[in-house]
Amino acid sequence: MKIKEITSYLETIAPSDLQESYDNAGLIVGNADMEISGVLISLDCIEEVVDEAIANNCNLIVAHHPIVFGGLKKINGKNYVERTVIKAIKNDIAIYAIHTNLDNVYEGVNKRIADKLGLLRTHILSPKPNLLKKLVTFVPVEFAEKVKQAIFDAGAGHIGNYSECSFAASGIGSFKASGDAKPFVGEIDKQQQEQELRLETIFPTFLQTQILAALIKVHPYEEVAYDIYPIENFYEKTGAGLVGELETEMRPEEFLKHLKNSMDLEIIRFTSLSKNIKRVAVCGGAGSFLLKNAIWQGADAYVTADFKYHEFFDAEKKLMIADIGHYESEKFTKELLSELILKKFHTFAVLLSKTNTNPVNYYY
Ligand SMILES: [Zn+2]
Repeated sequence: MKIKEITSYLETIAPSDLQESYDNAGLIVGNADMEISGVLISLDCIEEVVDEAIANNCNLIVAHHPIVFGGLKKINGKNYVERTVIKAIKNDIAIYAIHTNLDNVYEGVNKRIADKLGLLRTHILSPKPNLLKKLVTFVPVEFAEKVKQAIFDAGAGHIGNYSECSFAASGIGSFKASGDAKPFVGEIDKQQQEQELRLETIFPTFLQTQILAALIKVHPYEEVAYDIYPIENFYEKTGAGLVGELETEMRPEEFLKHLKNSMDLEIIRFTSLSKNIKRVAVCGGAGSFLLKNAIWQGADAYVTADFKYHEFFDAEKKLMIADIGHYESEKFTKELLSELILKKFHTFAVLLSKTNTNPVNYYY
């Protein structure tokens, strides 16, 4: 199996278009056509992880954090990024990162945290704007079902928990074929009127190519008439953070204990709260940018990482900020990636890295 088979599968789950502008997710080192001997999954890809890959005969490292963010102008091994890249290239090890694109999908990094905490009725904390488009096409009535099904199968028509959503209105289409056209109905140089359905549905922008390909493949007309409109609706299946509810509300100290146990933590930095906790927002990694969203969504606690001293004051006693550490908040991402790969490629050698890549230690 080739590297691109795994990476293109992972990108059906977390499309690379969903990564943030500062990110560098994707195949960072290696050739997409290389045959895979084994996959090593880690949160960070550092030199020790490349060593681990070599020792375990894995020539693909799938990491959450990209080892390279900005451009490398010189590669002479003067820092850990360059040394990791050099070691990977010398040993024919490919490095693939699946970062903010995996943060930004519903079934990604944050859903895994929410599941560990037992949160129910979860939804995206800050859905992404400008990710939906409307597709309108005009289809002869007897072909409408076939066309509709093809574009649904390609990923169109999802609204919340509903799939295969569309609207159809009937009307008369007209066209006049000319030149070398081979019209499905009608004659050359003569206006044809045809009973058609105006079929409309929505789709996420990153699926546009495959949805149009599916439409054109099954639509009977030589020239398929369709319109694509940008729409301003939020795409509630993608975005940052997640919010959900505990099955039963907990006193703050009970919640801290639950958090410590379920995420297997050594330490939690938190702001005090004088009410019980039921609604909980989560964001793996640096999440202070979502504090306002957590408050707007009525969360009683916000579990995330990398809060600075002054940012803790912004909790204003409206909710408990629980900063559990960046590595700690995302450590179950390895498990998630391994499950995703094994779900599709059952017999494949997928190892979870045993290297502790957390650069932060605690002294008690
Ligand atoms: Zn992170």
